[in-house]
Amino acid sequence: ETTANQIAAGEVVERPVSVVKELVENSLDAGATRIIVELTQGGLSGIKVVDNGCGMSPEDAMLCWQRHATSKIRQAADLNRITTLGFRGEALPSIASVAKLTLTTRAGEDLAGTEVLVEAGQILRSSPVGCPAGTTIEVKELFFNTPARRKYLKSPHAEAGQVSDLINRLALARPDVRIELRSNGRVVFFSPGNGSLRDTAAAVFGADNVRSMIEVNYQGRLFCIKGLISKPVLTRASRQYQSFFINGRYIRSGLISSVLQQAYQTQIPSGRFPIAVLHISLDPTQVDVNVHPTKMEVRLAQEKEVAEELLAALSEPLNLP
Ligand code: ADP
Ligand code: MG
Repeated sequence: ETTANQIAAGEVVERPVSVVKELVENSLDAGATRIIVELTQGGLSGIKVVDNGCGMSPEDAMLCWQRHATSKIRQAADLNRITTLGFRGEALPSIASVAKLTLTTRAGEDLAGTEVLVEAGQILRSSPVGCPAGTTIEVKELFFNTPARRKYLKSPHAEAGQVSDLINRLALARPDVRIELRSNGRVVFFSPGNGSLRDTAAAVFGADNVRSMIEVNYQGRLFCIKGLISKPVLTRASRQYQSFFINGRYIRSGLISSVLQQAYQTQIPSGRFPIAVLHISLDPTQVDVNVHPTKMEVRLAQEKEVAEELLAALSEPLNLP
């Protein structure tokens, strides 16, 4: 069982940013409206995620360390209409197999919370504890028992940078949730959590950049889009300032990138890219999120039709001559 978890960990847990991703996605799935992520030494010494979500019962606080003990999926048929970010029931067991963890959690309706200590996949101790409603997971000494994996880690600064990019994307994915990032005790980012994509984008890209961005609000045959795209004068030398979300999930898509570029036609010089945040909603059965375990690549049904409609939807608000 520990071995299976360590193998799964090889897919899910590569470095601090992958741990943060899984923990924050769990917080979002738990309905949290406030999430705090704290890194010590870029997450190499410690990662802590605090949320105000639904919390866990004492039973679930023990069960969640077992593989596939997910509470989120009941039948194979559910796989085609996943509404939660997690569904494999592998993240917590995987992380626990390669680190030392403390879970502190309380469901709103319970009087007492539960604290569970887990190390290398083994539950060391569990006890009732007084704590706020919600869940806190603290991960220490990542890869302490798999020294070979530590070699692939970068500097604290580089690891923290990756987490920071992830937090930006998660904030843009969920403007309704206040997400805060602390690094070595200092607050380095927070999103307003007021539901406004523009305010959230201002926190991520800077207010000056966002002020002139154009709103996209499209309701079409195959999908809806809400988002912000920059005027042709405001471009960047990389695509790093483009975030695409399908049904709330951050995705990478060469198709969407190239259609976006096409929408600007010859208005922007080669090697330059617009800033963009696009939320696309479409029928979940038209998106396959099972392509990769980290679920960033997606496969779309009707790619060609989607591309055509997307080009029209993005070109219109740009209103280029
Ligand atoms: P998955 O997200 O695929 O269900 P995980 O291993 O990430 O699997 O989590 C296992 C289970 O632990 C979840 O299904 C959920 O019931 C519980 N859980 C994990 N994190 C939280 C959290 N922050 N708040 C409430 N429940 C949580
Ligand atoms: Mg999960």
